[in-house]
Amino acid sequence: MYSRCKKTKFLKNIKRIIVLSLFIVLGVFILKKIFIGKSLVPIDNVASMKISYETLNELRNLSDKYEIQFSELLTYYMLYNNFFDSKSYINDRIEQNFIINYDSIKSSFRKKDVTPYYKLIDSILDEIKVFPISSEYASDYIYGDSWGIERTYGGKRIHKGCDIMDRENIRGRIPIVSMTDGIVENLGWNEKGGYRVGIRSENGNYYYYAHFDKYSDNISKGKSVLCGDIIGYMGDTGYSKNEGTKGNFPVHLHVGISPYTELSSEEFWINPYPFLRMVEKEE
Ligand SMILES: [Zn+2]
Repeated sequence: MYSRCKKTKFLKNIKRIIVLSLFIVLGVFILKKIFIGKSLVPIDNVASMKISYETLNELRNLSDKYEIQFSELLTYYMLYNNFFDSKSYINDRIEQNFIINYDSIKSSFRKKDVTPYYKLIDSILDEIKVFPISSEYASDYIYGDSWGIERTYGGKRIHKGCDIMDRENIRGRIPIVSMTDGIVENLGWNEKGGYRVGIRSENGNYYYYAHFDKYSDNISKGKSVLCGDIIGYMGDTGYSKNEGTKGNFPVHLHVGISPYTELSSEEFWINPYPFLRMVEKEE
């Protein structure tokens, strides 16, 4: 009798625990729906952030003309286009099709869904104050949108950055400056990047520069740098386990940006090209 009673009590407790757990799961689900924004765009689209230079320029002009903050305008434009600018949509069409309907486009998104995208774009635009190469070397380099091009060294993968090439292919002649303020988090040889520098900004974004010929004497791990400080010289180091290997590819700077964002819990890189074009024009 005593043991039967104990057994019933035990079963009752189990039932209670199951019901309580179900309530907790349901509660968390509902709270998540209410308080956490939903992902509006596939993360790979956000990473590749395809937008032409002409469109960026036009958005910049329209931001002045209509007095809309540029980061906000760019965020809604990218969201509206799924982070993939359809080339048919350029120049005067942006004003007719996008700006004229801007308020209704804006109100078609929930603000809390938009916030993480806005924060991502705004913090990078805010932090990058200079192009990584000073304007006195403007005729010495060339670059385009090289995000996503296939790479084979170290296994099949896609290019997650932007390459700025030395037109003359001469290592060690073009100084590279930090685009942002921050702390030098990584310095030294890595197999793919050769002599590389990784700088963490105050907002937690990570800026990665690779293939240096040599470093500036002024930088060291853990030390802070200011935007515009020379961090090293363009080179062709990398693609080897042997430190100091040069010449496995043409002389260039690889720029990578890994933003601190709630949009991805894994290592996440975003296409630096639009940001480079924006800051280059400002100089
Ligand atoms: Zn690269």
